[in-house]
Amino acid sequence: MVVVVGGGFAGFHALRRLEKTLPPESAELVLVNPSDYLLYSPLLPDVSAGVVEPRHIAVSLRQQLRRTRVLLGRATSVDPQAKTVTVTTTEDGGAVDGEHVQHYDRLVLVPGSVTRQFDIPGVAERAHGVKTLVEAQFLRDHLLRQLDRADALPEGPEHDAERRQRLTVVAVGAGYTGTEIVAQLQYWLGSIVSCWARVRPADISWVLIDLATSVLPELGPDLGAVAMDALHRRGIDVRLGVTVKEARDGETELTDGSTIPSRTLIWGAGVAASPLVGTLGLPLQKGRLVVDADLAVPGVDGVWAGGDAAAVPDLASPRWSPAGTSQDQPVTPPTAQHAQRQGAALGRNVAASLGVGRARPTSTATSAW
Ligand SMILES: Cc1cc2nc3c(=O)[nH]c(=O)nc-3n(C[C@H](O)[C@H](O)[C@H](O)COP(=O)(O)OP(=O)(O)OC[C@H]3O[C@@H](n4cnc5c(N)ncnc54)[C@H](O)[C@@H]3O)c2cc1C
Repeated sequence: MVVVVGGGFAGFHALRRLEKTLPPESAELVLVNPSDYLLYSPLLPDVSAGVVEPRHIAVSLRQQLRRTRVLLGRATSVDPQAKTVTVTTTEDGGAVDGEHVQHYDRLVLVPGSVTRQFDIPGVAERAHGVKTLVEAQFLRDHLLRQLDRADALPEGPEHDAERRQRLTVVAVGAGYTGTEIVAQLQYWLGSIVSCWARVRPADISWVLIDLATSVLPELGPDLGAVAMDALHRRGIDVRLGVTVKEARDGETELTDGSTIPSRTLIWGAGVAASPLVGTLGLPLQKGRLVVDADLAVPGVDGVWAGGDAAAVPDLASPRWSPAGTSQDQPVTPPTAQHAQRQGAALGRNVAASLGVGRARPTSTATSAW
């Protein structure tokens, strides 16, 4: 019995490889995932901007993984001694309606990551995430509603403050997610705003903020400067070296003491490994589960991990050393490209543990996105 927890990039590609490699009689394959689709998250900003239809970025797990039993639910704990995973199932609205204990012989932990919020007052309640399909669509509807409401305000200076709030968009995180979402949304709203009689593209303000001192630091200083230039030319107010101090109704206060009147706060400021891996009592590196180069969890029989939830040694990095410890080794960044490659490696290595093929480390190519 091979159980995979998480049906994202890593889990999907692990199972695809296992289905291709393992003879049907050699193992039963089970996938635990809260939804019955693989979410192609790099295209979530395109869903918010209406460039892509939501269903086009949701790949049916049941259609694509014909040999795998899909168990809809969320793993809440793992018992490596008993070799079991506890899975809760939920009803519409998220209420837990059942619990199931699933036995495994081999376990692949790939539950991905969650949005990082840094415990800033008001952010959890007021900021829009862009991590799920529902959030992406909700953001789109929210922005359209702000245009409608701003357009419907009577003329006159007494309504200027509300108008400014409704037409100001603040995004936090000048990495890929925040920068891409601001760029996409600005283009989209600019192209449709002529449908409203009293709002012009110039009336909509865009603010992108980050604690870092450059935009897109993942791309290095030269490309970061090009991106900064492009954002400025498009009229986006980029504020670096600051972050949110508090999110309140109708305004966002920054750590430099300034306040931005706005009803739209978008949170794209990085991710943290799924909380599930923190419950295992196993070594972590910055919250991600430590694994060997072949993606096995050291010292735990029959458990592997990869993707955003795992600290996978980056063998291609010049900083990697065979003598390094799990805490100071460079690890692969949390990207779909790495998760997909690691998924295929997980499938290959789990199959090898069942006597089919040979285990190898994950592909070592390092890349940004
Ligand atoms: C807006 C956005 C834009 C991005 N753009 C890019 C890009 O352009 N290029 C790029 O390479 N990467 C991009 N990424 C990052 C990329 O999406 C992730 O690195 C990748 O999805 C990680 O794959 P994964 O398999 O580890 O996790 P995921 O793909 O997140 O899959 C994890 C799965 O596990 C499920 N799960 C979570 N907890 C549990 C549990 N307890 N039990 C069972 N299942 C669970 C989740 O529901 C999910 O289905 C982007 C991410 C976002 C949010």
